[in-house]
Amino acid sequence: MECIFCKIINKQIPADLVYEDDEILAFRDIHPIAPVHLLIIPKAHIETIDDLEDGHQLLIGRMILVAKNLARDFKTAEGGYKLLIRVKKHGGQEVDHIHLHLIGGAPLEEIIRSI
Ligand code: AMP
Ligand code: ZN
Repeated sequence: MECIFCKIINKQIPADLVYEDDEILAFRDIHPIAPVHLLIIPKAHIETIDDLEDGHQLLIGRMILVAKNLARDFKTAEGGYKLLIRVKKHGGQEVDHIHLHLIGGAPLEEIIRSI
């Protein structure tokens, strides 16, 4: 298994875990771009949003609720934050295991530009 996030799930490599349940894991991004930068991932190896099926509805919904609760725990709920999922090459996805970025703790710039 080459997937780096599956290795984190299987505790083969370390990560700074902030949440875990049967289906979902969350940990600090190793290269944070803001004071709060967490990654929320499903334990199931699903490569991209484009691979989702109807049966994943609950899982994806739960990931967003975990992000909302973590935003409160990390004191960024009041000020606000950003949730981001990159998809495939044009979206800038670097790790092929779905991950929801929770980015906050400071005012965030918007760097998405039209082409
Ligand atoms: P993306 O560009 O949306 O695919 O984001 C991948 C994210 O994973 C980047 O923000 C990386 O800093 C982060 N990342 C890669 N490897 C690790 C790791 N071992 N532990 C924590 N975060 C990681
Ligand atoms: Zn994986």
